[in-house]
Amino acid sequence: MKEFLKNLKFVWQFAKGERAKLIKYIICNIFMIIISIVAPIISAQIIIYLTDSLFTQLLFLAVVLCLVEWFRNIFNRFAMYYAQVIYRETFISLQTQLGKEIMRLETSVIDQNGSGVFIQRLTNDTSRLASVFNLLNQHLSNILTDLGIFVAILIINVWAFIYLVVIVFILFLLERKRTNLYNENDRKFRKKNEKVSSFVGEIIRGIRDIKMLHSEDSFSKELYSQVKELNLDRYEMNAVNRRYIFKRSMLRDLFDMGLIFLLVYLILEDNLVVANALVIHNYAVRIPNIVWSVGILLDGIKDFNLSSTRVFDIMYGKEYKKEKFGSKHLNKVNGDFQFSHVSFRYKDSDVVLDDLSFQVHANETVAFVGKSGAGKSTIFSLLCKLYPVDSGKITIDGVDINLLDQDSIRGNITVISQNPYIFHVSVRDNLRLMMEDITEEEMIRACKLACIHDFIMTLPDGYDTIVGEGGVNLSGGQRQRLAIARAFLQKTEIILFDEATSALDNETQKEIQKAIHNLQKDYTILIIAHRLSTIINSDRILFIDKGKVMGEGTHKELLKSCKGYKELYEAELKER
Ligand code: ADP
Repeated sequence: MKEFLKNLKFVWQFAKGERAKLIKYIICNIFMIIISIVAPIISAQIIIYLTDSLFTQLLFLAVVLCLVEWFRNIFNRFAMYYAQVIYRETFISLQTQLGKEIMRLETSVIDQNGSGVFIQRLTNDTSRLASVFNLLNQHLSNILTDLGIFVAILIINVWAFIYLVVIVFILFLLERKRTNLYNENDRKFRKKNEKVSSFVGEIIRGIRDIKMLHSEDSFSKELYSQVKELNLDRYEMNAVNRRYIFKRSMLRDLFDMGLIFLLVYLILEDNLVVANALVIHNYAVRIPNIVWSVGILLDGIKDFNLSSTRVFDIMYGKEYKKEKFGSKHLNKVNGDFQFSHVSFRYKDSDVVLDDLSFQVHANETVAFVGKSGAGKSTIFSLLCKLYPVDSGKITIDGVDINLLDQDSIRGNITVISQNPYIFHVSVRDNLRLMMEDITEEEMIRACKLACIHDFIMTLPDGYDTIVGEGGVNLSGGQRQRLAIARAFLQKTEIILFDEATSALDNETQKEIQKAIHNLQKDYTILIIAHRLSTIINSDRILFIDKGKVMGEGTHKELLKSCKGYKELYEAELKER
């Protein structure tokens, strides 16, 4: 209970804005509870008038009863409206906040956990948290309503009341056992569900590769086995409910029979009139509902606590580390930076960068070459502070990046990856995502510099053409050039360019080289080169091997001084 109150206090922060509606919602429910207590008493009176043939009073009470029920409907209508607004607003602010927290997580945390962990918590768990006020109100008022019926029965006959209290107590013990069992299974089920969601997400993202590898069958089989296992677990989990519902129904019928015996006995003993016995019997049918309501409330509270833990884990948990930035802000950087004795390994991996040192001056174009797995992309990731270094120091304009705020690092670096992500919106909107108030001239200028303008003009709707999700209807080279145009618009001083590994045709390659050439001298550019021919004109080339700089200089200098570089170059010449 203590845990529940703590969690409730937390969720309240997100619902505070709807305080007035919450109060109105509670008031509506209080009126509904009062009506539920009054209605059976009026009904009892109606039956008494009926048996005594007092028809005028009977008609009057029928009208009163109708009005009372109408009021209940009106209050219910408003209560539903308030409940939905409270849920909507709480859900929006909770989900937005959790989304922000997920984006603040360290990259390694995202690497290690599948996307399912975050998707499930961002969608299902936040929804459960947001519905806590409705859950509480709805079930508490159900319980209070049923208690109202108890009060009405107590007024009519004390023995019938005692009998029903005993029944409720027995049913309640049974219900508590069920909720404990069910919740334990639910916790396990949700963990598994996250895994399956991750897998489904991966299938969707990798659908093109799956098709090209013609591996639909093996993925379908794997999906089948995961989904089957998950659903068998769900089935087992629901079996607890099935068994319980059966026991409860059998017991309820037994208790009902007992109640009839008791009512007949009370009538025979002149302790009860027939009309009241009928009222008690009609309303006693609802008595197991109180246990059911308590059960759902307990389920809901446990569910709420479980979801809270899962959401708080991401927000505050030690396991889900957040990125840390310094407070120093650089308005505009020159673009100088330096790696000094940097060592780094990914979690559970071997050393990737080993005491790595090099310096890059502002407006220089430096290329990194080396075998695949040498650590080139990792250098980019560390420069953007996607991972913290294990030892050593990285500086931008002479300032340790650990002291810099997020904006000074990422706001001054643009990364053009091997396969840049292009969003499923128009070309224009893809560019506008970088710079909201972009003018038509700026956009066209950037695209011309990136050598993509002519291609865009051939598209059916020019700049308004929608490019498929991930830019699927653009070639690799076109995606990279569009990303270069985005880089022009971002106007950051440092551009990190990861050349596409897939072979591009000569024409495209030339266009990309031209686009990069347009950036040179005004920006500090780092290129990861997979083909040496494209970076021969760089100011400097660094040859990386096993996370160390093994050679440094111009193409000609390296051919003379660096054996590894020479071998790589000769291997490429042979391939041509
Ligand atoms: P390159 O760009 O030179 O091909 P990378 O920097 O991508 O090399 O990778 C260097 C090494 O780090 C490789 O052995 C790779 O398997 C490993 N690695 C890369 N990214 C990760 C990651 N997110 N988690 C664990 N290991 C990784």
